[in-house]
Amino acid sequence: MNKNSSNTMALAPNTSNKRETVCIFGTGDFGRALGHKMIQSGYPVVYGSRSTQISNLIPKDAEVLGHAEAAQKAAIIIIAIQRQHYNFLTPLAEVLRGKVLVDISNNLKLNQYPESNAEYLAQLLPGSKVVKAFNTVSAWALQSGTLDASRQVFVCGDDVEAKQMVMNIVRALGLTPLDKGSLLAAQEIENYPLQLFPMWRFPMFLSLGLTAFFFFYCVALDIIYTYIYENNDFSFFIAITIPNRVCPVMALILLALVYVPGIFAAIIQLYRGTKYRRFPDWLDKWMLCRKQLGLIALAFASLHVVFTLVTPLRAFASWRTGKGIISQALNNKTEPLDHTKAWLSDSYLALGILGFFLFVLLGITSLPSVSNNVNWREFRFVQSKLGYMALILCTAHTMVYGGKWFLSPSAYKWYLPNIYILSLIVPCAVLVVKFVLIFPCVDKPLTQIRQGWERNPKYSE
Ligand code: NAP
Repeated sequence: MNKNSSNTMALAPNTSNKRETVCIFGTGDFGRALGHKMIQSGYPVVYGSRSTQISNLIPKDAEVLGHAEAAQKAAIIIIAIQRQHYNFLTPLAEVLRGKVLVDISNNLKLNQYPESNAEYLAQLLPGSKVVKAFNTVSAWALQSGTLDASRQVFVCGDDVEAKQMVMNIVRALGLTPLDKGSLLAAQEIENYPLQLFPMWRFPMFLSLGLTAFFFFYCVALDIIYTYIYENNDFSFFIAITIPNRVCPVMALILLALVYVPGIFAAIIQLYRGTKYRRFPDWLDKWMLCRKQLGLIALAFASLHVVFTLVTPLRAFASWRTGKGIISQALNNKTEPLDHTKAWLSDSYLALGILGFFLFVLLGITSLPSVSNNVNWREFRFVQSKLGYMALILCTAHTMVYGGKWFLSPSAYKWYLPNIYILSLIVPCAVLVVKFVLIFPCVDKPLTQIRQGWERNPKYSE
């Protein structure tokens, strides 16, 4: 098949509204759902089945024939059958010669077979043009029309023209085809629906671990310590006070952790004097899940905002305000406004608001619909420059909040630092190292290394 002819096909205007007949092998769940959608989109559908009896479940207007007879009616045949039954296709090799076979199958386990199902089909029927598609769309989604989560259809195949024909059908069904290249990509496409948030696993476990640690740390210092030494029962702190301490701490630490791998990468490149050596695996993996870490950090920051906004509604807050007013009345003394305190409280709130605003901006620009519309430099500017700005503002927000209190002995119950002090360790370390890295004497060699310069060229061999 002439591969260049695909371009002509793609550019050729569709002068007729009449659609080509599509054949579907298999009248199971997926075959029926896809057939239904195709008929709605104007494609005549003919089923190839072991039984030619029409059942109520088969879409109206579809024809049901034997496999060989059905295959003769169409140039494209969708194989809606499990891989383990593909052997039945071998006797049909002659009828299927030159036809486009669409493999839509999935497996039960990652890398279940040595070769992908599509490659296996191509080996069984070398005279046919196999294209992998539709396996990431579920029968339920096709039938119910709720295609929000799975509008993208990955397509791959060795024959460019056959692939274009399948991509045209995908578009006609209101879906978005994504060309993944040759049939070699089929294994990856088949593994895709079997993965469960692979990029989210490390950020989720890390967040859960740190959240549990900080939660129990606060319970120990704010509830148990107060109960033992001050005989006060503040167990209700579990509902709002402690979550409102843990959330900002988590947001700040996770935001800092987004920038740690970049710092490590810079140090490693400076140390090695080359960029042509692979980073350790753990660093590669950490780099790949920075977006997820950032989004979880944003979720914690948003919760902190909500918890803070409900503070005036709390019985504890009104009791504390009332107590202050009554104590002033009993002492017959009005406390003057402490301007330093007022400045500190307004500054820490302003820093928090600005930090959160940049945080939200970072989150928005990581959405594919937004990031697709900015160029690489703009994306880097937002994610790196504005990201560091957000980190500086949020770190300053925590520092100003703590103020001198961080240094007072009462902040060290059981000689342990307050969690706000702990939360500052990673962000401060990141900011200090980053500050060193932007010094011209460090930044210049690093930029040269990133442009391909090597201190000792033998590393690139
Ligand atoms: P299914 O309901 O089990 O249907 C499979 C069909 O294959 C049967 O209805 C039967 O059709 C045919 N068949 C069964 N045994 C056969 C044999 N020994 N020889 C020839 N044909 C045989 O399965 P399904 O859910 O439709 O899935 C079909 C394919 O689509 C699978 O490879 C699956 O991985 C893939 N897929 C499914 C979904 C989904 O949501 N269900 C999503 C993506 C991909 P006849 O009785 O008409 O011959």
